[in-house]
Amino acid sequence: MKTVVLFFASAVLAAAQSVSVHWEELTAGDFPKALEASNGTCAVPFGIIEKHGPSGPLGTDLINVRYTSELAAWQEYTILFPPYYFGQIFEARHQPGTIAYSTKLQLDLLQETASEMARNGCRKIILINGHGGNNALLSYFLQIQLDSPKDYVVYAVSSPGSESGQNAAAAPSKPGVDGHAGEGEISNVMASRPELAHPERASQESGKKLNRLDLPASVQTGISWYSNYPNHYAGDAAAANAARGKAATEASAAKLAAVIRAIKADTVSPRLQKEFFDAAQHPLTTKQ
Ligand SMILES: [Zn+2]
Repeated sequence: MKTVVLFFASAVLAAAQSVSVHWEELTAGDFPKALEASNGTCAVPFGIIEKHGPSGPLGTDLINVRYTSELAAWQEYTILFPPYYFGQIFEARHQPGTIAYSTKLQLDLLQETASEMARNGCRKIILINGHGGNNALLSYFLQIQLDSPKDYVVYAVSSPGSESGQNAAAAPSKPGVDGHAGEGEISNVMASRPELAHPERASQESGKKLNRLDLPASVQTGISWYSNYPNHYAGDAAAANAARGKAATEASAAKLAAVIRAIKADTVSPRLQKEFFDAAQHPLTTKQ
C-alpha cells in the first residue's frame, strides 16, 4: 500500500513538473495538487533580520535557511511558506537594521500563520529554524500547541545550515571560527548569494569572546550573549568561501530532506495528539 501511495505522489509531482516548492509561486489551481504531492506537509523556513558581523547581510539566517530548505524540498517535495523572519532577536536591538518584534506578536503571528496554513490543508507544519535566537521561542511554541484542540501537528527542526562536520570540504579552516556570523554562516551565504558576503571585512571588528560576566557557568541571564559578543559577531569569517558553503549546505539539505520524509510518513503524532485532545476534554475519565 505504501508503495502505491508513494508512486501516486511522485506521479502527481512528475505530472506537475513545473510546480514550484514556493507557496507564493503556485497558482490557486496548482495549490491543491502541490498539497497532494507534499502529502499535506508544509514548511516554514524561519530566519531573522539581524546583524551578521562585518561580513554577512542582515538576512543571513533567512537567506541560508531558505536556500537549504529549497534544496531539501526538491529532494523530498514540500511546500515552503513565503519569507518568514518574525522571530526572537532582542539581543541585537543595539545594532543597525535589526527587526525585533514584541514577544506577543511573535507568538500570535506564528500561531496565526500555522492556523492559516492548516485552514489551507496543511496537516503537518514543519518549522525549519535557521536562527539560534528562535530556539527557545520554538520550544515554547511547540508546548503551547497543546492548549486547545488542533487538526494539524506542528514540528520543529533546528538549524540545518549549521551542519559543518559532514565532510572535509565542509569543515572549518581552524578551531573557533564558526560562531555567529563566522566562517560557516558566511560560507553558506556564498553558496547561494556570493555577492552579499564580504569575508575581506572580517577583521574590521572583533569576534572574540569577552567573558565579561563574573558568574558560574551554570547561571543564565538575558545579557549573557551581549556580555560575550557586543559586536554581534562570534568567531572569524575571513576564510569563508563558496566551496565550503556549498558542501555544508548540500549536506544539510540531504539531512533535512530525510527529516521531511520522516515527518510525511509519521502517523503516530497525529493519532496521539487527537487521543490527547479528546482525553483533555474530560480528564476525570482518564484511567488512574
Ligand atoms: Zn546567523
